[in-house]
Amino acid sequence: MKIDLHSHTNHSDGLLPVAELLARAISCNLDVLAITDHDTVSALPQAAAWLTETQASLTLINGVEISTAWHEFEIHIVGLNINPDCPQFLARLASQQQRRLERAQEMARRLEKAQIPGALEAVLAEVGDGAITRSHFARFLVKTGRADSINAVFKKYLARGKTGYVPNNWVDLASAVQWIHDAGGQAVLAHPLKYNLNGRYLKRLVTDFAAAGGDAMEIISPQQTPVQRRDLWTLCLQHQLTASVGSDFHQPTTWNELGKHLYLPDDVTPVWANWGLVPKRLTQEPEATAVLSAAPTTSMDTPR
Ligand code: AMP
Ligand code: MN
Ligand code: MN
Ligand code: MN
Repeated sequence: MKIDLHSHTNHSDGLLPVAELLARAISCNLDVLAITDHDTVSALPQAAAWLTETQASLTLINGVEISTAWHEFEIHIVGLNINPDCPQFLARLASQQQRRLERAQEMARRLEKAQIPGALEAVLAEVGDGAITRSHFARFLVKTGRADSINAVFKKYLARGKTGYVPNNWVDLASAVQWIHDAGGQAVLAHPLKYNLNGRYLKRLVTDFAAAGGDAMEIISPQQTPVQRRDLWTLCLQHQLTASVGSDFHQPTTWNELGKHLYLPDDVTPVWANWGLVPKRLTQEPEATAVLSAAPTTSMDTPR
């Protein structure tokens, strides 16, 4: 079963609209895809409607990626199988979006002071009803020639301590786990190696996440070395968490693709172990077999 439990649409900082992301997942032969936009679930009803309309052989997992505060770090917690209609959860996500808006206003003020005007207007025009992220600022800064690449622009303006960086007051990590549980979902510690934590802090993070009732850890992400995978897998087992896999797909690139190289080792429990997933592609196979067996046999079909 091909499964990817971390992806973004243009409802946050992904570049693809919902239908294009889903069509891409299907062309990548995925059986299961979670859409996990930043602090919003607004893509999910559209995704469900598209899948019903097209009768596509893809199972959608309702997801979200919540930005949280843990010590001075911004830690991302993915929620899987959340109920996207839960009013309490929607209100809680709205509070995060309000924080995003206020941060964006402050980021724009700081950039303006650094002789870079017009950021907020440009970003808001691009975002529409979606989540405002630093990626939107990054695209504006590249478009207006402040740096050559998104990566360079993050380093120069948007990383911690740089001109456009505004520390945020995200929900704390333990509360985010509770939000996800209250919405019926499972909480997953996203991309644990993306926070530049030293070994001691990484262990503390996983310990605190597990103590808060966290369920799973993303132990497989793109661009990891075998040693990194093994270390995360060890931490996952030590804390009796289940394991998740995710590409964190934002846009087509040469180095990342939906569902690519996301294989779990055999001796960890996948976060989806109790979800009752049956690949729709497999459930559709009997029909295909019936058509085949109705076809006249040739010598090619002779069993060996
Ligand atoms: P925010 O949640 O608004 O702070 O934005 C964080 C998002 O910015 C992440 O989800 C990434 O998609 C993106 N991001 C962070 N750092 C980088 C980087 N160095 N290069 C490219 N994208 C980045
Ligand atoms: Mn992102
Ligand atoms: Mn993230
Ligand atoms: Mn993500």
